[in-house]
Amino acid sequence: MYNPMMIIDGRPVLASDGSVHKILNPATGELVGEVPSGGRQEAHQALTAASRAFPAWAATSPGKRADVLHQAASLVRELADEMAVMLTLEIGKPLRASRREVLGSADVLDYFAEEGKRAFGEWTISGAGKSRSLVIRQPIGVAALISPWNYPVDLLSWKVGAALAAGCTAVAKPSSMAPIAASAFIEAINRAGAPPGVINLVLGPGSTAGAELVESPLSQKISFTGESATGRWIMAAAAPRLKRLSLELGGSAPFIVCADADVKSAAEACVQRAFNNAGQICISVNRVYLHHDVEEEFMELAIQRAGRLRVGSGMEDVDLGPLASEEQRKRTREHIEDALSRGARLRLGGSEPEGEQYSRGHFFLPTILDRVDHSMRVMREETFGPVMPVMTFKNLEEAVRLANQTEYGLAAYAYTNSLDAAVYLAERLESGGVGINSNNVVDLQAPFGGWKQSGFGRELSHHGLEGYLELKHVKIGL
Ligand code: NAD
Repeated sequence: MYNPMMIIDGRPVLASDGSVHKILNPATGELVGEVPSGGRQEAHQALTAASRAFPAWAATSPGKRADVLHQAASLVRELADEMAVMLTLEIGKPLRASRREVLGSADVLDYFAEEGKRAFGEWTISGAGKSRSLVIRQPIGVAALISPWNYPVDLLSWKVGAALAAGCTAVAKPSSMAPIAASAFIEAINRAGAPPGVINLVLGPGSTAGAELVESPLSQKISFTGESATGRWIMAAAAPRLKRLSLELGGSAPFIVCADADVKSAAEACVQRAFNNAGQICISVNRVYLHHDVEEEFMELAIQRAGRLRVGSGMEDVDLGPLASEEQRKRTREHIEDALSRGARLRLGGSEPEGEQYSRGHFFLPTILDRVDHSMRVMREETFGPVMPVMTFKNLEEAVRLANQTEYGLAAYAYTNSLDAAVYLAERLESGGVGINSNNVVDLQAPFGGWKQSGFGRELSHHGLEGYLELKHVKIGL
């Protein structure tokens, strides 16, 4: 059993009214842990602590802040095996994916520790030479860091690493669905020597604890990752105080396979990105567009490859764990039923796996549909489940039109061996990240974020650090 506590001003804290929230293993239904369920009061206390800690942390040299972050990264690496088990038990993902996630979060802390030292200024001589313009970057203030359940440690590390390196203090609020490993992550940073109040942890519902973090005058920056609907609410709630915002929201990534592509590697990459984390990734492949000429070969390879994926408890050697919740499974089923009722063809999966070992978890088989069109929910909404819907196109122009026919714009992928086609697609696809012959748009050194209703603001890279800094022009008269 895991029973983390909130961390406010460096101290462990329970909910003031004693409320707790139970975390159940999505593979077995068994109790994994109980976490305190805080609300507005705890969020307010955490923001107060972060506000108190801000002036000293902002004045701490980037090198000293880096020491704390590097120390925290080492501690997270030491705890990686233990934290990976927590992640798998609370959210279901296969253990090796959990371990990769935890180790990745340590790399993020190391990266931002060093990037924080490079928040350079500028110095210019004014027109008449009688003054100088100094431009400096300063931390915004207290940041509210609100994260989702699908990558609870990794996505939180993107925010915490950048905020602390920039000199902001922060309150982290992980999702109530997956708070255990995220709590261990924040605890590690506190144990690594972050002064009390620099990074606080509040656990509780978004509607109370999260809303207070957004609405309170004590937070100056909100960095949110989650659903587009929640993002819209946050933007409206932050508007009265014109708070600085980064919104990393939903996605509906197209995967285009051109006539000249290496079809084998495209099929492998597509299956991997569609079914990794059981499809519960904002940059998951949601819509596949195949050139007519490659349809048959691609489908055969993809069905074979996906058919070999092993489904089971994340504690075993599997490729797909259960979905994180029954709600996820219900939506997946509904999207498939809707597509089939409108003429789609089921090529693989389409149901829960059979067997006693699956009876208590939210398992679902990798599913491939073809003959889909844009009238179907699976092509218009984010399924966030293991479904790969496929349709065909005749030329690049049509591929781009179909790919861009969505309110989202987070990631897009295209496979081609033509340089001209690669440039044509890269320049026309409307999304924050485009993978050309790559099924990943995440890289520590490159900006990650959305266009259109996938949000705005960028995480990772030096652009991610900028999100926690304000520019100041200091004009010096001579
Ligand atoms: P969600 O919007 O339900 O919740 C995200 C977080 O917001 C949770 O911590 C929740 O408690 C909090 N929250 C909810 N209501 C709030 C409110 N009124 N005020 C403040 N906080 C509130 O999202 P989820 O279901 O946890 O995550 C899945 C979604 O996240 C998917 O849409 C997915 O595409 C998206 N996502 C986006 C990215 C990205 O980088 N763009 C990455 C991962 C997930």
